[in-house]
Amino acid sequence: MSKKRDYYEVLGVSKSATADEIKKAYRGLAFKFHPDKNPGDAEAEEKFKEAAEAYSVLSDEGKRQRYDQFGHAGMNGGAGAGGFGGGFTMEDIFSQFGDIFGGGGSPFGDIFGGGGQRRRKGTDLRIKLKLNLKEVANGVEKKIKVKRYVSCNTCSGNGAKGGTSLSNCTTCNGSGQVRKVVNTIMGQMVSTSTCPTCAGEGKIVKERCESCAGEGRLMQDDMITLNIPGGVGEGMQLSMSGKGNAPVRGGIPGDLLIVIDEEEDEMLKRDGNNVVFDLHLNFADASLGTTLEIPTIDGKARINIEAGTQSGKILRLKGKGIKDLNGYAKGDQLVHVSIWTPQTMSAEEKAMLEKLRDSANFAPKPGKNEKNFFEKMKDFFH
Ligand SMILES: [Zn+2]
Ligand SMILES: [Zn+2]
Repeated sequence: MSKKRDYYEVLGVSKSATADEIKKAYRGLAFKFHPDKNPGDAEAEEKFKEAAEAYSVLSDEGKRQRYDQFGHAGMNGGAGAGGFGGGFTMEDIFSQFGDIFGGGGSPFGDIFGGGGQRRRKGTDLRIKLKLNLKEVANGVEKKIKVKRYVSCNTCSGNGAKGGTSLSNCTTCNGSGQVRKVVNTIMGQMVSTSTCPTCAGEGKIVKERCESCAGEGRLMQDDMITLNIPGGVGEGMQLSMSGKGNAPVRGGIPGDLLIVIDEEEDEMLKRDGNNVVFDLHLNFADASLGTTLEIPTIDGKARINIEAGTQSGKILRLKGKGIKDLNGYAKGDQLVHVSIWTPQTMSAEEKAMLEKLRDSANFAPKPGKNEKNFFEKMKDFFH
């Protein structure tokens, strides 16, 4: 390749050109060298690409500054300079600068590439997936049935009977577009629109495949296995590429998007990767100590309650929480103790408590061990 031309020279503008002038200059060149106007002309295509590259730099304030300072050397490999190494493809140009050709989708964008045939992509499918706390915590494999368009096997997706090939559309000669000349402020321009006969495909099915009525795809119930990692959360979206709908008559299927719907657990509340359980402890158990069963994510667990356990104590069951989505660690289960005060009592019970009311051991004597709530929280989170 010959020496790279100066970008300003390429666009024919001065170094002090305004953004508007640059845009205008590029638009002029883009129309002049547009492949649609110069079919099969390699030099025009080269010029078209050269102009797009120059425009991509000079239309971006940061890149333009770097270019002014360092020239082409500043554009290779530097941050944000990406995409120039191998030169622009036509796809790049149309996807990045389509707006230059006038709003509402570039009238030229679909034309290039020998007949307007870009690989089509099917639509995405979105499903909601309900998960309980255990599934969220540990991850889970789910088999689900999804109704989606899949490529027709009989015709291999092209819609034609018995595997025959498609014929060129005669209305548009296979380009998928029909053109007309329109007058604009910039002079006469060729405007193109989608061919009404073939809906832009450039090809038509002469004899339709019987299985899919020529559509090249069929709606089917598809069993899909989802591997959900532990640690996902409400509203999170996972995607499986290629498991969405197949497009009409060949192309790439869309994606399957899975939105997590986290079911609330009755007993355990999620707090980040930890789960919190509120334990209401019988006054006698708290005083005398006991062992009891509490729910955890993976079933029941026995815990020891020491004699003299105070209300507000937080016990930690290490590793009984939720897997970290981005690592191997697991959260904990925090057991928040509160002492249950009886609401109704028999006369006998009342009499027993009356006896204890003035007992010296029943008088509150909070000491250093009875930290207040905030200190406890500090201990947990620092
Ligand atoms: Zn078919
Ligand atoms: Zn057509």
